[in-house]
Amino acid sequence: MSKTDKKNILVIYTGGTIGMIHDEESGTLKPFNFGRLSTVVPELKKLPCRIDFHSFDPLIDSSDMQPALWTKMARQIEVNYHKYDAFIILHGTDTMAYTASALSYMLQNLNKPVILTGSQLPIGEIRTDARTNLITAVEIASSNVVIPEVCICFDNKLFRGNRTEKYTSLHFDAFQSINYPPLAEAGTEIIYNHEYIREVNNNSLKVVSHFCEDVFVIKLFPGISMAAIQSVVELPGIKGLILETYGSGNAPKDTRLLNILKEAIKKDIVVVNVSQCSGGVVQMEKYENGMVLKQAGVVSGKDMTTEAATTKLMFLLGSDSPATEVKVSVQYSIAGELSSE
Ligand code: ASP
Repeated sequence: MSKTDKKNILVIYTGGTIGMIHDEESGTLKPFNFGRLSTVVPELKKLPCRIDFHSFDPLIDSSDMQPALWTKMARQIEVNYHKYDAFIILHGTDTMAYTASALSYMLQNLNKPVILTGSQLPIGEIRTDARTNLITAVEIASSNVVIPEVCICFDNKLFRGNRTEKYTSLHFDAFQSINYPPLAEAGTEIIYNHEYIREVNNNSLKVVSHFCEDVFVIKLFPGISMAAIQSVVELPGIKGLILETYGSGNAPKDTRLLNILKEAIKKDIVVVNVSQCSGGVVQMEKYENGMVLKQAGVVSGKDMTTEAATTKLMFLLGSDSPATEVKVSVQYSIAGELSSE
């Protein structure tokens, strides 16, 4: 391969286990700056790419993620967009699915790959998964198959980022995407599932970075306190509520709950129904216990994950659009985060 065939990749290191070390004093893991990548993973030099490295300062455990940092990542991509063919974000696994979802809404008309990866074990550990995850992400980013999406590359799979959830903190396959097939799978070779990859568009990248933080998530459970739900919808300034319901979108047919929700919706709080099940779709018409929610004005989150729905509601409400508009747009795909019927 001639030099000109090499892809230019920008790796943005935000923190996370991948680069953490043990703190002798506390015995906990904390982020450290491991410097240039090729010194820790020399195999990367064999791939057909040139890699530049940008490190966040300070590095963070992704549990400290904030919308302002999503904006920082999106702006890094925006200012470097024409210099690079692909972007890799090294990120902690804890909130990676939220970041991937948020970026997928922010990076409009994206026509280059943005691949998030990290690891379950730090890069220096003997059985670390960091090397494989990183090498696979770089190989996919160097490929001639252009994936114009925000993805998560983990344990030999490439997922659409806004379809993922972190489902295990123990095993190497930390992420799953039950409602959408992987975009690629790495075995002895990398197989791309072309029919599931979004199409490249010819419009220019536009970064939209407004998030409303007046959003709350309530996970239902048998015996949940109505007073607690009431106090959430009475929070000053609250604009959006994600209701994590049972199964195909069901909730108790408790008139107290329904009255609280009706009052909230009357006050222009957008209430979105997502299921506690990782797989399947919200169908409020299926059971009476779902229908009552629909009749109260709750809108369907369809087959979105909680991560995708929460960041989407924050994003849509951040535009200052009226609640009536947000109620409609939340049910349509921005970046492939939900399936259209
Ligand atoms: N707490 C870490 C983080 O999310 C966990 C990880 O990276 O896997 O930053």
